[in-house]
This record gives sequence, structure tokens and C-alpha cells, in this order.
Amino acid sequence: MQAVRYSGYGKAPELVEVPTPVCPDDGVVLEVLATGVCRSDWHAWRGHEPVALPHVPGHELVGVVNRVGRDVHDFAVGDRVTTPFVNGCGVCELCRGGDAQVCPHQTQPGFTHHGSFAEQVALFAADTNLVRLPAGMDPVVAASLGCRFATAYRAVTAHGRVGDGDWVAVFGCGGVGLSAIQISIALGARVVAVDVSEVARRRAADLGAVPLGSDDAAARVVEVTGGGAHVAIDALGSAATEVAGVRSLRRRGRYVQVGLMLGPDARAPLPWDAVVAYELEVYGSHGMAARDYPAMLELVDSGVLRPAELVGRVIPLSAAPAALMAMDSPAAETAGMTIIDLTQGW
Ligand SMILES: [Zn+2]
Ligand SMILES: [Zn+2]
Repeated sequence: MQAVRYSGYGKAPELVEVPTPVCPDDGVVLEVLATGVCRSDWHAWRGHEPVALPHVPGHELVGVVNRVGRDVHDFAVGDRVTTPFVNGCGVCELCRGGDAQVCPHQTQPGFTHHGSFAEQVALFAADTNLVRLPAGMDPVVAASLGCRFATAYRAVTAHGRVGDGDWVAVFGCGGVGLSAIQISIALGARVVAVDVSEVARRRAADLGAVPLGSDDAAARVVEVTGGGAHVAIDALGSAATEVAGVRSLRRRGRYVQVGLMLGPDARAPLPWDAVVAYELEVYGSHGMAARDYPAMLELVDSGVLRPAELVGRVIPLSAAPAALMAMDSPAAETAGMTIIDLTQGW
């Protein structure tokens, strides 16, 4: 089969012929229909997170079940499915409790094994991790739910508990940030969106957010919201946005860290004075378990949530190497998500 693969960190990925994946006993092999190009794939390619080389990226995937392992009960050949980027083991206490997103024995397609920038991809623990798509849902739209939209959905609903009339401050207007803006507004919230890029701010404003530059952002959010946001979400992942996010909250506000804190940012300080004096809640958010997808898919199917509006470009598999490498520019996502459509050939 054809796959996009790189042999070293930062080395140009190439479209190459590789063997089809082996089907795990508890898993499936999917024929990939569509798959998103995500900043996490870029981080792995750049060596910020170790992967076994050579490596095939891709984790925001939609496909048709092509082969089924002997221990799988709930899925069959021909099912159209998606999956969270974190796949739980299916047997530990956390997985059985519905929290596969933090399973200690998790697998991640495109990180722990070869991913979906390929004609086929293997997934483990299918009964725990596969999500059936509503009939007629466009694979490109479903792939755009990928890690970014689903992650934003859980940050806004489960951790942020965003409600009607709340003020939400979103820091970073890439894929996750724009998703969080759209979801918050759909749930009746008012949103302030902070980004250094004017193009990103314009996209945020198009979705209905009040756009703000990054200069003195916390104080300006407090001003715009009349005393601070109820919920702040760092969708970028940096010391600067994290500190500004916490400082932009009103008393008893909720802070959600979604953007990965990598490298030196992993040890960024948290403004504990505000956390204590304001009684802030601070959450880390790591994707969303398959169990929680149906509620989100229902809102997409009924048109309340419109992930299609966040898709910027649809490309063939052969254009994936260039799209991944283009993420060297921090502005790569400001034109919207890039989705690889494998139904059009490569
Ligand atoms: Zn588990
Ligand atoms: Zn992703």
C-alpha cells in the first residue's frame, strides 16, 4: 500500500510503498478515507516527541473497517468509523470507567505505531476505541473532528462547563482554538479570542469572537469581560499564554490547559496567587474518550456544531509531505485545518 513515511526527524517525508498493517487480535485494520494534518504530527516529525523510525504519521482519521481481529465483538467489515487519538487498552480500571483518554497502556496511531497517512491503518482495542459515524456524514468533515475539535469539545463542556452567557477566553486560534470558539458560541457563550496573528484573529472574529492581540492580553480580557472570563482555555501551549490565561479569569473561574506544554514550557510557572485567592479550578485536558463522541456527533449531525467551516484545504495523500513540512511556520494553521482525502486516489 501507499504511505507517507519519514526516516529521520526533520527529514522530508516521502510517499512510498509499504506492507499493509497486521490486524491485532483485539483490533481492526481500516481502509483510510480521510485524515487530518495536525501540529502533533509536526511535533513528532521534528523530534519533540520520540517515535520509532521510520515512521508513518496521522491520527485524525476516518475509515472503513477492512479486517477484524478475532476478539472484536462490536464492529464488522464495512463499518464507517473514527477514533480518538488516544486509544485505551480496554481492560484497565480507567478504560472500564470510561476514561480511556488517560489509559496508562494507551496506544496512539501515528505515534506509538504507524498512523493514517496511508491507505490502511491498524487500531488496537477496537471495542473500546471505535466510534461509528452517523449515516451520510462526509469523511472529510468527520476527520476534521479528529483530535482538535473533539479535544476542544471536551475542554469546553467537561472541564470548562461552559453555559449560556458565560465569557470564555481562548488563547491561540489554530485548529483547537477556533474549534473551542465555535463550540462555546454554539452553547450560548460570549468569546474573547487572543492571538498574535492578525489572520487568525480575523478567523476568530468571523466565528463571532471578540479578537484581541497578545499585548497585555490578560488585563484586556478582564476589561472586555467586565471583571474576567468565567473560563479560559490555552489552546496553544506556552508559558506566556498559560500565565495570561490564568490571569484573565474572574473569581471562581475555570482554567483549561489543552495546548501541549513541551520543551522548556513543560516547567512553566502557574500563578498560584490567583489560583488560591480567586479559588480557580485548573484542569489539564487530554483528548476525549470514544464513549463521549456520540453526544458531539449528534450536535454535528443536527447542525448545531459546524466543523466543516474550520476546514481550510482538502489535499491528496501525495501532498501530505509538503503540508506537514509547511507547519514549520507557526501561521500554517491560520487558513484552517488541512485534511487529506484518500477517496480521490493519492
Ligand atoms: Zn486502559
Ligand atoms: Zn491532532
